Amino acid sequence: MALPVRVRFAPSPTGPLHMGGVRTALYNYLFAKKNNGTFIIRIEDTDQTRFVPGAQDYIMESMKWCGIMPTEGPGIGGDFGPYVQSERKELYKPFAEQLVQDEKAYYAFDTPSELENVREQAKQMGMPNWQYNSITRTTLRNSLTLPADEVKRLLDSNEPYVIRMKMPRNRDVRLNDIIRGWVVVNTNNLDDKVLFKSDGMPTYHLANVVDDYLMKISHVIRGEEWLPSAPLHYLLYEAFGWDCPEFAHLPLLLRPDGNGKLSKRDGDRLGFPVFPLDWHTAEGELYSGYREKGYHPEAFINMLAFLGWNPGTTQEIFSLEQLAEAFSLDRVSKAGAKFDPDKTKWFQQQYLRSTPDVELAQELERLLPTELPQERLVEICRLMKERATFVSDILSEGNYLVERPQGYDAEIISKKWKPETTEFMHGWLQEIEKIQEFNAAEIEIAFKAFLESRGVGIGAVLLPFRLLVTGVGMGPGMFDIASFLGKQEVIDRMNDGLKFIDSTAK
Ligand code: GLU
Repeated sequence: MALPVRVRFAPSPTGPLHMGGVRTALYNYLFAKKNNGTFIIRIEDTDQTRFVPGAQDYIMESMKWCGIMPTEGPGIGGDFGPYVQSERKELYKPFAEQLVQDEKAYYAFDTPSELENVREQAKQMGMPNWQYNSITRTTLRNSLTLPADEVKRLLDSNEPYVIRMKMPRNRDVRLNDIIRGWVVVNTNNLDDKVLFKSDGMPTYHLANVVDDYLMKISHVIRGEEWLPSAPLHYLLYEAFGWDCPEFAHLPLLLRPDGNGKLSKRDGDRLGFPVFPLDWHTAEGELYSGYREKGYHPEAFINMLAFLGWNPGTTQEIFSLEQLAEAFSLDRVSKAGAKFDPDKTKWFQQQYLRSTPDVELAQELERLLPTELPQERLVEICRLMKERATFVSDILSEGNYLVERPQGYDAEIISKKWKPETTEFMHGWLQEIEKIQEFNAAEIEIAFKAFLESRGVGIGAVLLPFRLLVTGVGMGPGMFDIASFLGKQEVIDRMNDGLKFIDSTAK
């Protein structure tokens, strides 16, 4: 029987969570859902020098906003905690010691300055990329080269040391990645990575492998940048005598022009956010987030899902449940996925259009400075949503539904207001007065009759009518707008507008 699916998202709290990180979390979430598995979050904070306060909260809040909460993690619970590596600190050392005992790892006593010297000498001899590896370790100060009693003395006298992986010489490591297929790396190209540091903390590699084992992780789904570490991780599993989880390394997210990785540092430089939520740096800088820009999490998630995956059909709009249903790692591509800010807006637009007016009305209410009855808000959303990308657009584009025009589009007046227009408008105003049932259908009937009686085309009257009532030249159906505003308001606005035009003509 196959093992239960348990996957984890393992971010390091070194800053705000980048969009690429959210995508990794999302794919883990979808994979778990699809396979009746468990989705876990583990905070990898063993590198204390890179710890950024607030980052963990930011990560959790981002996942909550996206609706992809794990079922095990810090503050959530679960049988495999703690889920923050610094709180598990004590448990890693025995694992590192075990590897030393089994001759898979060794103590290295070289001080940072000794290593610096060796590196410098190598550089001068034309070897700029010196590594601590299966060849160089034979000439360095470690438990493989020093006599046993000297090693014991150094350990007893609390001399600082690290524990390094004893990389086997000239072995092809073959691992099968679900997305990339067979990956083969010769160990001669790998160095003796530090597993346990002199500060008493494990490195990422050791803690990651030990925790994946202890937390019974079945599939490691993570970004491509971790692929070079996978052979080392594979060898660590082997050294411990543990089964290796399956690996799936996700494609990189690329900049819109395909030129390089979309990185945290891109911030807002390229004209769009790369973070889910706003992030304020300690230096007072702001990196903007999709949430604060007005994106709905459903649209953001839908867009992210397509960065590296496709359902194999033409369907593009998916709810989270539908994504979980359709998702499979087989359809994740190897090639880097180009981020497309326009497509991101498109997803948001589609999402806005499919959201019921009643729901949009609730969001709109929060943005409005004044109170409006619920059915008015719903109606505003119905009228404006086809023209909006964000809820805030409903307000900025359709402000005339809430208050009288603050001005009148001067270009339209100069280009479209003919000498006879003012008289047409007075005539139309008289007809409006006569309309009994002031709804869109009746207004339209009256309008057509008016055109006929004057023998003029629609263009000569509709645009000026719109201008007087809304101040602008574009918007939803004019009869809908008039009906929404009501007879008296339309009359008042027309009179105001005509007065204004009159005053500018003089
Ligand atoms: N802590 C690593 C990171 O920050 C996790 C890599 C992994 O998933 O193994 O991305």
